[in-house]
Order: sequence, then structure tokens, then C-alpha cells
Amino acid sequence: MAVPQNRVTRSRRDMRRAHDALVAANPNECPNCGELKRPHHVCAACGHYADREVVAAGTVDLDEDAA
Ligand SMILES: [Zn+2]
Repeated sequence: MAVPQNRVTRSRRDMRRAHDALVAANPNECPNCGELKRPHHVCAACGHYADREVVAAGTVDLDEDAA
């Protein structure tokens, strides 16, 4: 098993973690229904993308990226 050669101080550990903050989502308003949606994604509420319906409304799974 690999063992760290040197102790990581609180200072170095915390400096590393300074970049670990989560970035908030930046939702856009759907031009069709006004619902907030993810940029460059089909609207989950109405199924529209770029002013036309590309999937039937209500069939978009918001967690598709999680799987
Ligand atoms: Zn919409």
C-alpha cells in the first residue's frame, strides 16, 4: 500500500481545497414556456429547443446526466 512520504499540513490541505467549491448552475429562461432550463439543453417542461418541439412535453428526465 502506498504511504505518503510527507505530512500534508493544514495549510497545504486547505490551499488545495480552495478550488473545491461547487459552482452554481446558471439556468436560462425557456423562450417557449418561460420555465428555467439548463443552457444548451432541451427544456424539461415543454420539450422545446431553439423554438421548436423536439421531444414530447414532460418526457425529459432531468437526471439523465446522473445515470
Ligand atoms: Zn419550455
